[in-house]
Amino acid sequence: MKRRTDFLVIGSGIAGLTFALKASKFGKVTVVTKAGLEDSNTRYAQGGIAAVFSEPDNFEKHVKDTIIAGGGLCDEEVVRGVVEEAPKRIRDLIDLGVPFDRKEDGTYDLGREGGHTEHRILHHKDITGEAIEKTLIEKVRQEPSIEILEHHFAIDILTQHHLGEILRKNYPGIKCYGAYVANLNRQEVITFLAKITVIATGGMGNVYMTTTNPAVATGDGIAMVYRAKGVIENMEFVQFHPTSLCDPNARPSFLITEALRGFGAVLRNLSGEQFMSRYDSRGSLAPRDIVARAIDNEMKIWGDDHVWLDCTQLDKEGLINHFPNIYEHCRNKGVDITKELIPVVPAAHYSCGGVKVDTNGQSSIDGLYALGEVSSTGLHGANRLASNSLIEAAVYSHRAAMHSGERISGLSYDEKIPDWDYKGTTHLEEMVLVTQNYREVQMIMSNYVGIVRSDLRLERALVRLEIIYKENESLYKRSLISRKIIELRNLINVAYIIIKMAANRNESVGLHYSIDHPKRGVSDN
Ligand SMILES: Cc1cc2nc3c(=O)[nH]c(=O)nc-3n(C[C@H](O)[C@H](O)[C@H](O)COP(=O)(O)OP(=O)(O)OC[C@H]3O[C@@H](n4cnc5c(N)ncnc54)[C@H](O)[C@@H]3O)c2cc1C
Repeated sequence: MKRRTDFLVIGSGIAGLTFALKASKFGKVTVVTKAGLEDSNTRYAQGGIAAVFSEPDNFEKHVKDTIIAGGGLCDEEVVRGVVEEAPKRIRDLIDLGVPFDRKEDGTYDLGREGGHTEHRILHHKDITGEAIEKTLIEKVRQEPSIEILEHHFAIDILTQHHLGEILRKNYPGIKCYGAYVANLNRQEVITFLAKITVIATGGMGNVYMTTTNPAVATGDGIAMVYRAKGVIENMEFVQFHPTSLCDPNARPSFLITEALRGFGAVLRNLSGEQFMSRYDSRGSLAPRDIVARAIDNEMKIWGDDHVWLDCTQLDKEGLINHFPNIYEHCRNKGVDITKELIPVVPAAHYSCGGVKVDTNGQSSIDGLYALGEVSSTGLHGANRLASNSLIEAAVYSHRAAMHSGERISGLSYDEKIPDWDYKGTTHLEEMVLVTQNYREVQMIMSNYVGIVRSDLRLERALVRLEIIYKENESLYKRSLISRKIIELRNLINVAYIIIKMAANRNESVGLHYSIDHPKRGVSDN
């Protein structure tokens, strides 16, 4: 079955919905999302969204903090552009009705997080992402030119490959004509023709065993663009959040925001020592990669399965008032954070790399934009500064909507794209094979491609992944479409890209740390 839309938006987090709202002024928008509209990383964001909002802060300081966190690999022009545009895009969110917290005098209550030298994090209590997502959903539902299709899974983007051409990696003339989208309720694949296609599919935390990301974050967009021969970069830079609640049965892992450390909480090992001072002069407020590696090291040295986060010395009322969600969640798990230490472990959290885009969010494939966490804009470099991702999504979604909106009237559909071929596919009898392989990929990545890497570990990971890849490709070709099997296929692609890019970086920088190449900028083999 064929369908047509001006703008096909894949994903309904801050990136997809912001783009949809703004692009709806230029034409018909269809948002497809593989689960419910609200299922996204965005909904889980706690700390807030970074922007320069009042003195003594200024753009220069935000630029500098971002570049320092990025280990020297940020694109300075991009950083400057995002930082300077950030206050305008926050105003857009405020105008839509996002209730950022204010102080009694009416000014915004700005938080501070690791790596930031000033208070510049706008937030709504500790559920900022939920407040943003809720507001955006309310608005897109009211917009008549936006169509919303929940439980619709984008399988692959459409290019000349589907017209029978052989495309090579990074070939400059690749065009996107839309996407194959599975209606998961009816097991039917729609050929969605679009003038502009937007990948806003978020992160890929589920490639690891422990992650703060919800189940939808399986790197689908990165895998789709990779298969379509688009340019992907910086995938070795996976951010592990240092502090997720240690609760082996929880999926996703519950995040204990950095803002809590900004509020005064400190890390201790199980002997009670404030160990961070041994690793960095900024102590518990050092950037995430340093804190995550320090925790990983402490756990390895002492053979412990977690460290502690200590809030017991903080003002009780202020603590509960600023972090009601964390207070409540921990209490339900039997930890009163005003009196007891919180057990925490690092968890895969954010993908700094992704689909390479220009300053308008355009990928290397014509007609295809990539926005939000799935993209690599040059802002984060080797490590993301806390709370810089929501703002990146807001800035780039705005730019992409304006840029593509101006082009839309001159674009048309390619009607020659064939419909999905169901030939030779049947229901998979043993779904457990998929589930087992899914877990195996996560284990390989956590064991061999985690916070600390080595050449041998990466080599082992690749050999093991290869076996799973072959098994799954064969299953995929024989099976009717199901969410689990496509997600596994995507996870395998993403794992492969991370391993390859990690192996190609013969240095340690930002989030990529290898015991075989511990220095920065030294290509030693
Ligand atoms: C626990 C947690 C806390 C965080 N805290 C902060 C913070 O305080 N500040 C900050 O700046 N950032 C924070 N982040 C990061 C930030 O939330 C994300 O980077 C950002 O929300 C990503 O937005 P997005 O729109 O790109 O993707 P998402 O919000 O993840 O949305 C992706 C969407 O794509 C859909 N999708 C995926 N694949 C497909 C497919 N194949 N077909 C159809 N639909 C698909 C998903 O269902 C989802 O709707 C946090 C992240 C987590 C997990």
